[in-house]
Amino acid sequence: MAIKLFDSLKREIRELSPSHPDGVFRFYNCGPTVYAPAHIGNFRTFVINDVLRRLLELELGPDRVKHVRNLTDVDDRTIGQSKKEGHPLGQITKKWTDKFHEDCAALNCLRPHVEPTATGHIPEQVNMIEVLMQKGNAYRAPDGSVYFKIASFPDYGALSRIKERELKVTNSAFDADHKDDVGDFALWKAYKPEDDGEVQWPGPQGASAGRPGWHIECSAMIKKHLGETIDLHTGGVDLLFPHHENEIAQSQCCNGTTFARHWYHSEHLLVDGTTMSKSKGNYYTLGDLVAKGYSPMAVRYALLMGHPRKQLNFTLDSLHAAESALASLRAFRATLPATGGDPGVFAAEFEALNNDLNTPAALGALFTVVNTKGLVVHAAAFDRVMFALGLDLNAVAAKTAAPAAITALADQRWAAKKAKDFTAADALRKELTAAGWSMLDRKDGYSLEPLKK
Ligand SMILES: [Zn+2]
Repeated sequence: MAIKLFDSLKREIRELSPSHPDGVFRFYNCGPTVYAPAHIGNFRTFVINDVLRRLLELELGPDRVKHVRNLTDVDDRTIGQSKKEGHPLGQITKKWTDKFHEDCAALNCLRPHVEPTATGHIPEQVNMIEVLMQKGNAYRAPDGSVYFKIASFPDYGALSRIKERELKVTNSAFDADHKDDVGDFALWKAYKPEDDGEVQWPGPQGASAGRPGWHIECSAMIKKHLGETIDLHTGGVDLLFPHHENEIAQSQCCNGTTFARHWYHSEHLLVDGTTMSKSKGNYYTLGDLVAKGYSPMAVRYALLMGHPRKQLNFTLDSLHAAESALASLRAFRATLPATGGDPGVFAAEFEALNNDLNTPAALGALFTVVNTKGLVVHAAAFDRVMFALGLDLNAVAAKTAAPAAITALADQRWAAKKAKDFTAADALRKELTAAGWSMLDRKDGYSLEPLKK
């Protein structure tokens, strides 16, 4: 079954395929800026990309997928945080990189095969800028910075379809007096002692010492770790313009070939119906939600409850629902026989995932199976669906599993039902309901689910 995914550049759903002769699928996902904890909106993108990575591995084999995700460890925000805290840049970015890894592990995201940093790839970026200058796609500004000349790349704007007028409004705030055209963007920023503190490197030939602009790092790291043409480039929709538009311009002008064969963008996360902000009190990191008593796995589940290409409204109620759904899945898994059963039961789940990553449809199909009485389910087939969604049922909070006293009542009721003592079975069901548990009967056993409050 092939994986089909919406392509943001070609504006249609297309099949993914590896293009290199070695058969390895090359997948790049723009990573975080490591200056603060990532918020759950950031994690929506990383969780969605993790499902994509898992599907690719299931489809092609684990050794036929190369996944690269960068860490932006030098820019205005990281330098600003380093000055604010009074610690060297490397110390700040290490602290937040470690926190990011910890959160990703709690959310059960697979580690990318390569996780390059911007500061670890300065020569590669300088080299790319020099090539762009030699080819006439970039120029030195009077202050020693280097800008990309968007007029030199006729395809500029193909991804975002941004009109020239909008482009000028969007970009005009930045250093307009140094540029030939307000739409041009910085490849290299000349050192400014008042802004940059200790942070500077020797620049491209003919330019001043300074630091790379943000966009060039992805182009340079992709070229080094994945090659000139990659099979899939992804990120949050907020990166589509200008970041991804600029990546295309830099890479295609430098390398003279197609940069990414497929582009995919996931949509924004809303919280309580509006954009997240600290001032509105609806800004959450993973740590904030764990402190409220939710499990990271419920956060992952809740982030998969909406279609990735639509805005998702995240609420604490959706986390309650996620905890309850995970408890049901865990209870269901416990009833599955180790062998036997029909491995084909989960076809609808994979059809949904492989058709433009429809995670809510996959979860819906999964619960159809869970709630269908008399189905004989293959445990390995169920585990394969859990792998694809990245749901680690062993990591589900213990408090959502039924306590021993509840399980004992349920066992008694199951025995009464099998003995056709329906009066006793009904009485025991009432006891379970009063204790806040619902018992779901199937042909070969039962599962327990906490009642929604
Ligand atoms: Zn990027």
